[in-house]
Amino acid sequence: MKILVINSGSSSIKYRVFSMPAEDSLLKGVLENIGERGSGVPDHFSGLRKILAEITGVDAVGHRVVHGGERFREPVVVDNGVIARIKKCCAIAPLHNPANLSGITACKKLLPGVKQTAVFDTAFHQSMPDHVYMYGLPYEYYSRFGVRKYGFHGTSHEFVAAEAAAKLGRKLSSLKIITCHLGNGCSIAAIDRGRSVDTSMGFTPLEGLLMGTRCGDIDPALVTYIMRKKRMDTRQIEELLNKRSGLKGVSGISNDMRDLDKASAAGNKRSALAVRMFCYRVKKYIGAYTAVLGGCDALVFTGGIGENKANVRKEICRGAFDALLRKPAVLVIPTNEELMIARQTYRLVKRG
Ligand code: ADP
Repeated sequence: MKILVINSGSSSIKYRVFSMPAEDSLLKGVLENIGERGSGVPDHFSGLRKILAEITGVDAVGHRVVHGGERFREPVVVDNGVIARIKKCCAIAPLHNPANLSGITACKKLLPGVKQTAVFDTAFHQSMPDHVYMYGLPYEYYSRFGVRKYGFHGTSHEFVAAEAAAKLGRKLSSLKIITCHLGNGCSIAAIDRGRSVDTSMGFTPLEGLLMGTRCGDIDPALVTYIMRKKRMDTRQIEELLNKRSGLKGVSGISNDMRDLDKASAAGNKRSALAVRMFCYRVKKYIGAYTAVLGGCDALVFTGGIGENKANVRKEICRGAFDALLRKPAVLVIPTNEELMIARQTYRLVKRG
């Protein structure tokens, strides 16, 4: 079965084709600058038409969808009802879900009759209990507006947890695993016997760890303080916290860990500080999640930083488990969200 995986973002479409169940990757690519003048790709529809011109015989399409709200606890076959519910989630994911939907509607038109599935970044974390996902705000904000922790990167956390169990030769259902997805966006998850019980990202992907350009956890009072002090409106403060903070904001140099390593080695103090802050925050969450899980059998690193930066992994782990009687296995596992989406799509389509 030939499965096309689509990750449709606001200005780009990433795609990959797998032969399933062999899991052979047949083709991959990315189309960028969608909607920009001179790009020759005015919208997602023409982008996908271009992509599909080079791919024949697609049996099913799997779409990455960022936000599935509380409605989607697992991947689903797309129908009109599903599209309507994904649309509803646009209110809480205005940056991502509309672009994901554009990919779905374009494929529906271009590949009529071909089964499509939606695989949600949030779905894996829907197993979190209420005392974990609720914020300490008036309850009506949850019941009326859906204000709660959702968590993201679920496809990646689920994938690497399963791979970790396979590598260890153990059943996922017998393991307490902490997975660290450290890329440009970063999140960490506590996985108890295959189920996510806590994760660091929240209502949006801004909460939690220090990231490339996102601040992660801060005192919420800072938001209004900075808005008053700098006379910022809501759009400006969102831009500050999402695009100008994190590693980039602290270092003043770059959001790329490789640049910070070079600058730190050359004696740049703020770069070194940004890296120390990054590692400290991950370590702190590992401590918290070890307590939540009542131990940790495996600690998994993935994502561009997690997979490639041994110095960061070493700093995070340094002393972290000294007090534990049973130390976790520490594993580096390359994430493969596209393969996970292909696997889920294959499973759904085969099931009919
Ligand atoms: P995204 O979250 O956008 O998918 P990545 O997972 O590629 O991003 O992570 C980006 C981060 O990973 C950057 O900070 C970069 O420094 C680091 N990184 C990516 N590839 C490498 C590599 N080969 N060696 C060292 N660091 C890397």
